Amino acid sequence: MADHPKTVITGLDGVPFGMIKYFADSGVMPNTSELISKGIFKRMCSSIPEVSCVAWSSMITGQNPAAHGIFGFMDLLPKSYKMTFPNYSSLKSAPFWDEWAGESVIINVPGTYPVRQMNGVHIAGFVAIDFEKSIYPKPLAADLKQMGYRLDVDAHKAHSDMDSFLADVDKTLSARIEAYRYLWDAVNWQRFMLVFTCTDRLMHFLWDAYENANHQYHSFFCDHFRKIDAVIGEIAGRMGKDDLFVMHSDHGFERLDHEVHINYLLARDGFLQFKQDGEITLEKISPDTKAFALDPARIHLNLKGKYPCGSVEHSEAEGILSQLESLFASLEVDGRKVIRDIYRKEQIYSGPYLDDGPDMILVAAEGFDLKAKLKVHALTGKGPFTGKHTQDTAFLLVKGLADPAIVPDEPAVSDIKGIIEKGLISA
Ligand SMILES: [Zn+2]
Repeated sequence: MADHPKTVITGLDGVPFGMIKYFADSGVMPNTSELISKGIFKRMCSSIPEVSCVAWSSMITGQNPAAHGIFGFMDLLPKSYKMTFPNYSSLKSAPFWDEWAGESVIINVPGTYPVRQMNGVHIAGFVAIDFEKSIYPKPLAADLKQMGYRLDVDAHKAHSDMDSFLADVDKTLSARIEAYRYLWDAVNWQRFMLVFTCTDRLMHFLWDAYENANHQYHSFFCDHFRKIDAVIGEIAGRMGKDDLFVMHSDHGFERLDHEVHINYLLARDGFLQFKQDGEITLEKISPDTKAFALDPARIHLNLKGKYPCGSVEHSEAEGILSQLESLFASLEVDGRKVIRDIYRKEQIYSGPYLDDGPDMILVAAEGFDLKAKLKVHALTGKGPFTGKHTQDTAFLLVKGLADPAIVPDEPAVSDIKGIIEKGLISA
């Protein structure tokens, strides 16, 4: 790829199309508003499921889960019921910064821990555990520590002390901005990617503050987006006229009315059973189990040969999937349908890791948050969250494309890499 133009990608984790439009129209995000007026601004589909690590993995590789191997925030170790956190080492396709020529600066992309050698600078995003393993090249870790860089906000604080959580959100954002300014000048980069993730945390805990102008944290919520917009304006002002600017989210958000517990439903209707020793964990499911769910609503048949207690023959699979389809399609809470879409894996995934994925994936209807918790005593519940992820309300904004037709009518997160590639070639 040629030396010019440069590309800047700004990610806003979880920010829905409607919110960015509202903040742009209402003066909270004036710089974003100006970019929208000059660029291509579209509603975008997330990955299925609409989970950050899956969506960002799809964005940076241009692939779907059966090709990049990341199906969820947690997954099972092969041939077991043991949970593991897939991370950057589990990603089976190359991210764009390993494929394209020139140096990249990559800051805070979820699912990219631990970092590895690359051409440029990489600061991992959540879930990033060890600071040293989150920074490439290593000597940069000392500089970042000095500027108070934080890998992630401490979301646990939100459960006990909201003010202290919000102070942490502010500090995390400020340090992230300082790191971007430092690296912008320090590295001779060809592409620069900066992701803001506190947006997702704020929306989980304070979606109600966004919707209600009288909420005590409404101004904090809006101010957070004002601060991000100021950075967007600063970046846009530093870019050349032939450079490519991409701004996007990985999934959307909306109000959470009810959590719905899919494994409770499977157990209630006899698809999921546990051994008689009283322990309710996946490792204690009985061989009579036909299906179980992993978060948020990935349905796995308990297939013979795939799992230690697997008993479902391949010849039985279609019959069980049909029964499950009827169960999910008819599920209602408060007179409202809970499941909007039901997919078999072959409908939405393709690639060499298809067999590792779930057999069926559910997308929730508005207001419902699907969960795969095991130790619950009711079909529905409500925790501290007031907002939940959505599948089809992410946003994409691109400025600087010579040919606007490069952006599909209904873009998905896995299209972004291709849009940038084509955009740079056509420039
Ligand atoms: Zn989230």
